[in-house]
Amino acid sequence: MSRLRAGRLAFGLFFPVLATTTSLAQPVVRTADPIARGLKESDFPRTIKVADNVYTYEDFHAGAEKFTTTNMFVVTADGVLVADGQGSAAETKGLVDAIRTVTPQPIKYVVICSDHGDHTAGNASFPAGVTYILHPTAKAILERSPNGWKPPPSAMLVPDKHSLTLGGDTIDILFLGRAHTGGDLSVSLPRQKILFLSETFLNRVFPAMRSAYPSEWLKALDRAEAMKADLYIAGHGFTEQGPVSNEEIRAYHSALEAVIAEATRLHRAGVPVEDAVKQANWGKYASWTLASSQGPIAIRRVYAELNGQLK
Ligand SMILES: [Zn+2]
Repeated sequence: MSRLRAGRLAFGLFFPVLATTTSLAQPVVRTADPIARGLKESDFPRTIKVADNVYTYEDFHAGAEKFTTTNMFVVTADGVLVADGQGSAAETKGLVDAIRTVTPQPIKYVVICSDHGDHTAGNASFPAGVTYILHPTAKAILERSPNGWKPPPSAMLVPDKHSLTLGGDTIDILFLGRAHTGGDLSVSLPRQKILFLSETFLNRVFPAMRSAYPSEWLKALDRAEAMKADLYIAGHGFTEQGPVSNEEIRAYHSALEAVIAEATRLHRAGVPVEDAVKQANWGKYASWTLASSQGPIAIRRVYAELNGQLK
């Protein structure tokens, strides 16, 4: 178990560093809301050390309701691999700068685990010459988006699985199935037993389904949990300590099941979609971050799947 301690690194920036070996567990409030968690807005962005050479970087998602977009980076003797960027050039520059304060090693790979703009729109701030890694579906979506960042022709496509060796570390890029976007990738570190799930795992954030494949998402979570990682890292919501992250991926899985079940109940009862949006009872998940905006979207998406409209 570990506890949060504060450390000062180069350039006077304040870094919370999560020590992974200390014995005092600090209980955390299980929420994506920074204030409810006991944090201040000025605590962000922040870098958290989760293993010897593995870090997460959390900055706020755009919008009034505060929650984090979380990236992972792996530092090796032969360069850095980054999983996901932030939502604007300035925010992703913040990520790049944070990596520079941790290591002089260059960023060699950027894995696009979610093609959504809140994880890709700042990609122009990554150094020229990095190799992007993404799923073919994500590539097609990014190329179609009118104003978004577009992957270069040199991008490496991973339709299923690709294993990299970087500085002696094995890094597995995995497609666990269609989940939040259709082209979701995950990054597994077998030695450290860490699995970065990007938006396949939303930590205490209401299941966001605008482009999701609801029932396939459940199967992707089954696969993720079957890997028995010590630490699961979510693409939104806070970085947790390992045991808490194991409980929270379970909790997220239950939330996704409950949301699909509620939409399915209304669909089976013949409730028209616009009425279902108003009638849905999300129970305890109504208090999760984004419930009010994402609830109606979830109803529409599950209805679409049940109507055979998702391909
Ligand atoms: Zn997102």
